[in-house]
Amino acid sequence: MNPEYSFFDAVCKSFDKAAAYTNFDAGILEQIKQCNSVLRLHFPVKIGDKVEVIKAYRVQHSHHKLPCKGGIRFSEMVNLDEVMALAALMTYKCAIVNVPFGGAKGGISIDPKKYSAYDLERITRRYTSELIKKKFIGPGEDVPAPDYGTGEREMSWILDTYMAMHPGEVEALGCVTGKPITQGGVRGRKEATGLGVFFGIREVCNNLDMMKKLGMPTGIAGKKIIVQGLGNVGYHSAKFFEEGGAIVVGLAEFEGSIYNEQGLDVEAVFQHRKTTGSILNFPGATNFLKSSDALEAPCDILIPAALENVINGDNADKIKAKIVGEAANGPLTPEADEILVNKGVLVVPDMYLNAGGVTVSYFEWLKNLSHVSYGRLEKRFMENQNANILSQIESMTGNTVNESQRKLLVHGPDEIDLVRSGLEDTMIKATNEILECWKNNPDIKDMRTASFVVAINKVGTSYMELGIFP
Ligand code: GLU
Repeated sequence: MNPEYSFFDAVCKSFDKAAAYTNFDAGILEQIKQCNSVLRLHFPVKIGDKVEVIKAYRVQHSHHKLPCKGGIRFSEMVNLDEVMALAALMTYKCAIVNVPFGGAKGGISIDPKKYSAYDLERITRRYTSELIKKKFIGPGEDVPAPDYGTGEREMSWILDTYMAMHPGEVEALGCVTGKPITQGGVRGRKEATGLGVFFGIREVCNNLDMMKKLGMPTGIAGKKIIVQGLGNVGYHSAKFFEEGGAIVVGLAEFEGSIYNEQGLDVEAVFQHRKTTGSILNFPGATNFLKSSDALEAPCDILIPAALENVINGDNADKIKAKIVGEAANGPLTPEADEILVNKGVLVVPDMYLNAGGVTVSYFEWLKNLSHVSYGRLEKRFMENQNANILSQIESMTGNTVNESQRKLLVHGPDEIDLVRSGLEDTMIKATNEILECWKNNPDIKDMRTASFVVAINKVGTSYMELGIFP
């Protein structure tokens, strides 16, 4: 890998390519592209009897809509360039799925595995208080969420620190998303990114023109899938593909990867890794000692769901999949992207495909501001209505439905039903908007460029309508 590689430059390159298909003034395009505010922090935390200086960041890429939104990652690899790139992707991602937020991202440059929960809590709380001091967090300003290396636990610490410093602020729960349900979280947030990946790929696979071009039948059923990364996103994506009738033939993790042409039972592999500490030696599967070998194994759809740059100039040519679905952010370098597109592979880009997380974060934020859970007001009313309609139909036709059909027909919406159907609708609409844009611009070679065009048009229009502050 080229040590000079800049992830932010790669995002800007894709942006420039797409900008040529839009009609905005060069100044507006430059304003959209740049990061609006960058916060770089060094703060001390006492670990054992030593003081450690922690490096951390928060980047707000765009203020065209507020609050800014984006996760916080904990990883030794975190650096300013990466956080800037990820913040920019958040702006485009939110625009594509019509989530009314600007993009942001945060990161702490630590390996969370090297710290106790006690120390991680102190680092997270100190980071949060730094964000508060600089006004880089707040329900109307900037709303973090989980990302690589963080989850519900860290979001609780952020919330508690924020609430302690903002007593009486009625909207305080909306200062962070991805919280546990008991702390204002929304049902369905945890698996949202994985489910969004599934809905997005399913919609692409339902598109007849697209499948004809790739020489594949429509639909998800029977398609062979390889998922790289069994973290929150990879694990849930793999499970939803399996439930949708696809065959998960390969799974990859740090320690190596496994393959079985007949299909792997995702939950059984997950449990096997939990008990043995490794994905390898799963009954019936072939081991690949190099994790990256699985990326090159035969399949229809490859889902990189871990970190950036895993498919690059060295291995892109060996990829056999016809569709690469970027569940992770930036898993392809621009070089790999070009190689795959030239090979006729359909690359379904990150900034649209993994937007399920932020979409459901938006639902969580709305729930926090409205102080009521989804379905609370209408569930019983809908059930009574449905029961009435059903009994009318039964008396008119003289037929009665059986108990399980009755349950299905009468059921009123719970929070999880509304969140999932909201997410499904969002991903279907976004997919079709991008495919439509691609169809209308036949010179565009790839779906990433088409997605950027959709995003730039929305953010650019928003800037134009706002006007520029004198
Ligand atoms: N970290 C996730 C992402 O990259 C979610 C962000 C959010 O929910 O704000 O999209």
